[in-house]
Amino acid sequence: DLPHLAETDPTAAALGYHEDAAKTDATKFPAHTASQQCANCNFFQGGGEYGPCQLFPGKAVNAKGWCSAYAAKA
Ligand code: SF4
Repeated sequence: DLPHLAETDPTAAALGYHEDAAKTDATKFPAHTASQQCANCNFFQGGGEYGPCQLFPGKAVNAKGWCSAYAAKA
């Protein structure tokens, strides 16, 4: 299994990544909605609790997480 992406990773922090999408900073990221999570992001490559994200090679992100690079699955 891939190591989990840390919220303190510089790129993750810059993109406002949180393992719990509900912890997203609504002031910084007003476009985030409650239904947006890694699980339904176009960059998420997994199906379980954690999975790879194309933006963070070698790391697994939380399916219930979110970052500002979010793009809805087509
Ligand atoms: Fe989650 Fe998508 Fe951000 Fe990757 S790009 S961390 S899958 S919201």
